Amino acid sequence: DVLLSENIEFSSLLLSEPVLKGLTSAGFQKPSPIQLKAIPLGRCGLDLIVQAKSGTGKTCVFATVALDALIPENTGTQVLVLAPTREIAVQIHAVVMAIGSAVEGLECHVFIGGTPVSQDKTHLKKCHIAVGSPGRIKQLIEMGLLTTASIRLFVLDEADKLMEEGSFQEQINWIFSSLPVNKQMLALSATYPEFLAQQLTHYMRDPTFVRLNPSDPGLIGLRQYYRLVASHALVHKVFEEKVHQLLQLYSRVPFNQSLVFSNLHSRAQQLADILCSKGLPAVCISSSLTQDQRLDAMSKLKRYQCRVLISTDLTSRGIDAEKVNLVVNLDVPQDWETYMHRIGRAGRFGTHGVAVTYCCHGEEENKMMMIAQKCSLNIAPLPDPIPADLM
Ligand code: ADP
Ligand code: MG
Repeated sequence: DVLLSENIEFSSLLLSEPVLKGLTSAGFQKPSPIQLKAIPLGRCGLDLIVQAKSGTGKTCVFATVALDALIPENTGTQVLVLAPTREIAVQIHAVVMAIGSAVEGLECHVFIGGTPVSQDKTHLKKCHIAVGSPGRIKQLIEMGLLTTASIRLFVLDEADKLMEEGSFQEQINWIFSSLPVNKQMLALSATYPEFLAQQLTHYMRDPTFVRLNPSDPGLIGLRQYYRLVASHALVHKVFEEKVHQLLQLYSRVPFNQSLVFSNLHSRAQQLADILCSKGLPAVCISSSLTQDQRLDAMSKLKRYQCRVLISTDLTSRGIDAEKVNLVVNLDVPQDWETYMHRIGRAGRFGTHGVAVTYCCHGEEENKMMMIAQKCSLNIAPLPDPIPADLM
């Protein structure tokens, strides 16, 4: 059933109090499967392409992500939603207002053709969430009535319709280029035709693909594994064992480039040295390096002068790792958001990748299981021995 998931409630998605309240009073008790998959990823700030049949609850996905991140005290427009028809825009507005009913001071308005601009002008004096058709939104930005400087979330609902040949492409391009560079983007659609994939690559940096088919992982093309290692009272013993396992993985799997995350940045350089001594060019970026040294490491990865980049979370943001198809967590990350960010480095759409997390029996193992459960991820034990066709 597309509207009934397991026994998971909205309350386990760690949403803000008012949003939870709003969902309940709107009659939404349990997240639908697509909501369960997409809302946690959206809350992590990832760019998402959400594809699911109509009627699966996609409106609530972006309404919830938008409202959860909203800062009502700030008066500027924070969220811009584009929709292909006035009816859809009006429906979206209703859903946002329902889920946002407990968000104090919330202002959400609809901007569509065929209504007086003077009314828009009044609404735009304070409008946290603007929902509209591409034509009218472009006009309002051009007239200087809609200020885009504080927009942090850009949503394309029914993206397949919005991007269709001869529809709104040009207007959307124009609107897109008027938005701040740093923002999150969500595209929702019932189908995922080639032209849409093409268009979205221009807009989104690292989109994560979310779709309903239960046999698809949340991140398309990314297979996730964990490998248990014996826990040991001596920390360096654990490190040695994990490195041993990692070397085995690298010798078995024909990866292109790999990203390794270590919770301890003291270990990052150590690992880089070990890998280099084994003939595997590796660099590490840690917070103890200067900005120049970090950029140098990044460019080595990009110019293919190294095959492994080792990083801690402090330095992981903004790693643009196009050819990376193997992400390794030497340790289980602190929380599920970090896990998603890390593995997302290899989960780009159109490419295939593998993520492997090493965890000690006991505490780390439990943490891993909690992450898998929280994100409804299918994380399998890494087969032993590692099959050569793992990738
Ligand atoms: P889509 O955009 O995927 O076509 P909608 O967002 O329009 O789907 O939602 C379809 C219907 O399902 C709406 O009537 C909506 O109120 C209802 N719905 C969505 N999510 C839930 C939920 N978690 N629980 C109950 N009803 C829901
Ligand atoms: Mg819809």
